[in-house]
Amino acid sequence: MDELTPVQLQELSDNLKQQQRDIERQIDSLGKGDETVEGAVPSGKIDPTTAMQEKQMTIAQKQRLELRLANISAALARSDANEYGFCVECGDLIGYERLKIKPDSLFCVSCREKQEKDIQ
Ligand SMILES: [Zn+2]
Repeated sequence: MDELTPVQLQELSDNLKQQQRDIERQIDSLGKGDETVEGAVPSGKIDPTTAMQEKQMTIAQKQRLELRLANISAALARSDANEYGFCVECGDLIGYERLKIKPDSLFCVSCREKQEKDIQ
């Protein structure tokens, strides 16, 4: 597997920054949505169970986004340290094709697979 060229690195880090902005915006709008729900619910009109379920879903979605944001920040930090594109576990090259699909990948394919087996 070839090392990333400076052009590929630039492209991937731009991609990461773009995703970072998108996710920050999504988290922002989730937060705002929350406030509107709480402030504008006409009493007795909305089933409190439904409102609560919706709120829990929003919280879960927000947590997923925050986790993803943390991953992206970690990848960007690695890019600043010139460690981006290498597996944090074994130090192998992750590979451009894989990073193109998921630029915040921190593991190579084999370490990722090993991890997933451990979870199961
Ligand atoms: Zn690895």
